[in-house]
Amino acid sequence: MLLKRYLNDHLLDILFPPRCFVCSSRLPANVKDERLCYFCSGRVEKVGLFCPWCGYRSRENSNCCCGKMKAHPLLGLFWYRGLWKKSILRLKYYRQPQLSGELGKMLGRFLLSLPVYQEAPAHLVTFVPLHHWKEKSRGYNQSFLLAREAAAVLNLPLLETMIRKWPTEAQATLNRRERRENIHKAFSLKKGSPVEGKTLLVIDDVVTTGATMEEVSHLLLQAGAARFLGAAVAVQGWSN
Ligand SMILES: [Zn+2]
Ligand SMILES: [Zn+2]
Repeated sequence: MLLKRYLNDHLLDILFPPRCFVCSSRLPANVKDERLCYFCSGRVEKVGLFCPWCGYRSRENSNCCCGKMKAHPLLGLFWYRGLWKKSILRLKYYRQPQLSGELGKMLGRFLLSLPVYQEAPAHLVTFVPLHHWKEKSRGYNQSFLLAREAAAVLNLPLLETMIRKWPTEAQATLNRRERRENIHKAFSLKKGSPVEGKTLLVIDDVVTTGATMEEVSHLLLQAGAARFLGAAVAVQGWSN
């Protein structure tokens, strides 16, 4: 009996030993929480509230000097560099959607730990959409996958609320002004989205200049959302 229970508990770990989701190194058999090895967890520097417009960073409140954070508070889990930049690139461009599992859960757990989230938790989770051509060619929308994992941790419904109307040029090659123009009016609300009076948590994979998050926050607030909160797995700091 004891042997049977032991096998039930440990068989999966024996057959498929747990590995670090970032570097694939072996982990102790009974790992429960984050599947991160000692090396990779030593490279976690969590960000918190971050304003891509003025560079302000905090875990507590959104009173940045440029004032933009009041309307569109943004939360970042990691800086977009090193190990985490590579993970995002693998998730997005190297067909490794399975990375969204741990990254999305980490984002959800991080949000729960932040006072700014605890004070005004979201009613529902949504995500930045891809244009359907791009989603078809990639096979998935990484922001949807991340949002699905985070929503499960936060115990909130996940809803598709927006449509990307045209395939915008890749933001990476553009400067700040060009990005704003590129993304302006690129989204529309999906018919019947129940956003009115709700606090919405919008999830994206990476925030660089914040132009996309600003655009979707205008759209959702105009549609009657009570409050917008943006969150990304990685944010581009000013020094990288
Ligand atoms: Zn590792
Ligand atoms: Zn600011």
